[in-house]
Order: sequence, then C-alpha cells, then structure tokens
Amino acid sequence: MYIESSFRYKQIQDIINITLQDYYSFVYNPTNNPLIENLSKRDLLFKIERHGVANGKYPIINAFSIYKATKDVIIITEKLVEMIESIIFNSEPDNNRAACMIDTAISYCAFHEMGHLLLGHCQIQKDMRMCAIENTNENTDIAIYQMLEADADTFAAKRLGEKMVTLIFDDRYKSILGYKSIDIFYEDILKGINAFFYILMYLELLEAKESYMLTSNGEIPKGRRHNEATHDHPPAIARCYYTGKTLIEHLYYQFQIPPKEKYFMEILYSSDYLFGGIELTSMQKEKKFNHITDGSFDETFNAMRQEWLLNTCKILSQYSRIPVF
Ligand SMILES: [Zn+2]
Repeated sequence: MYIESSFRYKQIQDIINITLQDYYSFVYNPTNNPLIENLSKRDLLFKIERHGVANGKYPIINAFSIYKATKDVIIITEKLVEMIESIIFNSEPDNNRAACMIDTAISYCAFHEMGHLLLGHCQIQKDMRMCAIENTNENTDIAIYQMLEADADTFAAKRLGEKMVTLIFDDRYKSILGYKSIDIFYEDILKGINAFFYILMYLELLEAKESYMLTSNGEIPKGRRHNEATHDHPPAIARCYYTGKTLIEHLYYQFQIPPKEKYFMEILYSSDYLFGGIELTSMQKEKKFNHITDGSFDETFNAMRQEWLLNTCKILSQYSRIPVF
C-alpha cells in the first residue's frame, strides 16, 4: 500500500519538477537575468516527501523552502498533496479537470516556496528556511513575515499565470488537458488556487487559530503580541483573494487575457461551490469578508506594499536573485 502511494507521489513530483526546473533555468540564464551573472551556479531540488512527527503518529501537513550551501530545496509533504487531491477529487467528477486543478494547487505551493528562496527570504532566517504551516514562538515581527508571505504569494501567482499562458499558446490546454475553451481552463486554474487555500482555511479553523493581518483598529500589527494566537502568514482568505487578483491582473496586463474577477469572487465567497464541507460561522464570515467587500483590505494591502518597497525590500535586495518589482 505504502509503496504504491509513494510511487504515485513520485509521478506527481516528476511532473511538477519539470515546470520548476524550467523557471529555475530561466532565472539562471544571464541573458534573462543580469542579477545572477556573478553568482555561482546552484541546483534546485524538489521533493514530495513522507513526513511524520517524532512518535510516528501523524503525517505532517506542510511545505518547506530550504537554502543550503550549494542548492535550493523545496519539499511538500505527502499529506499536503493527499489533502489537495482528496478535496478536489471529491468534488470534481471529471478526472482530467481534477488533474489540472491538482497540478495548479501543488504548482502554486511549490512556486510559493521557490519565491521564498529566489527573493532571499530564506537567507534572512536564522536557519535559512521557511515553511507553509509554521509553529514559531520566536519574538519576530509579524508584519515583516506577513509581507514575506504576500511577496511569495504574488511571485507564485505570476508564475502560475505564465505556465497557463504557455499551455494556451501551444494549444496543450486542448490537446493534452482536454479543455474545450480557454474560459473553462481559466476557471479551473482559479478553482485550483481556491482548493489550496481551502486547506489552509481548514487548518486555521482546526487549530482554532485566529490569524491577523490587521489589528482590531485596522492597523498593521507591530511586533509579536503576547497572549494572542498569532500567525506569521496572513489569513488564508486574504491570501486567496490577492493571489487570485494578482493572477487575473498579470494575465490581463501581460497577456491581454480577459479578466475573470467576478467568477473568482463568486467562488471565494461561496462555502461549497466546488469543495463543500467546511463552513465558516456567520460571525467569522462577516468578520473576514468585510475587510474585502468594503475595500479596506485593498487599501491596507497597498499601504503594506508601499512600506515593503521602502523598507523590507532593502533588507532583501542583497539576497534576492531576481529583480524585485
Ligand atoms: Zn510561505
């Protein structure tokens, strides 16, 4: 049983790896990227791995980016991939479409971790690594971490958009993936993103962990607040929202693909459009979606980006291997 399932994960790993290595060699080609001209060559290693806790009882749901001496390592645990697969297979009866959404969700996760590596986020950590589901008690500044996460999300959304465009340009979305229209293909990519964040939303609920991007006064939190459950990542709903928006805008401005914002918001606000199951309480919904619907989230997010460009970006510029924009 175990061997069979790991073999399956190996196949997924090999397919995603092709996409990741493609982008990595693009970055390490000096004609595309003058920033790496004076840096020594590094390798990228991507693995889907089985991880258990010390007593072997619970498989760990997580993803990691690790900066090592000569290589960049991205790891996604089997349990996370399994959750992505089950949430999608349970709600999408068409296997080809499900496969495309699964590939989208895992690629997104892997690109997010790659963003932490290429943008220099890992190198400013004590242990040169970052992970998707953290459990840190360090006295770190949450605002900075949330910005790093938002930065990696934006990076991943754009890479996903570019991958999508190559599949459209050479018609593979039809010939290989079996889609009849760009429209439906695009919708499934957005669903794939939603599926990934659904898992994070579920984990937030499971841990009864409230996560903050703003304080109750609508301000950016400074420092780590004691006696409050806090989180280095922005709330999953907020991340899903700006990831979808970034992808939609990138596709529109770079490749003139008509935006699908209305469709994306419909699925974001729905508790069971595709995935079913996990429903927020009405209070949680009210509280979390209000920031988005009344526009205050956009405002604060833009303010954070400004702060980012002015300050955090400077800390990272000596480590970043791609231009920050
Ligand atoms: Zn991250």
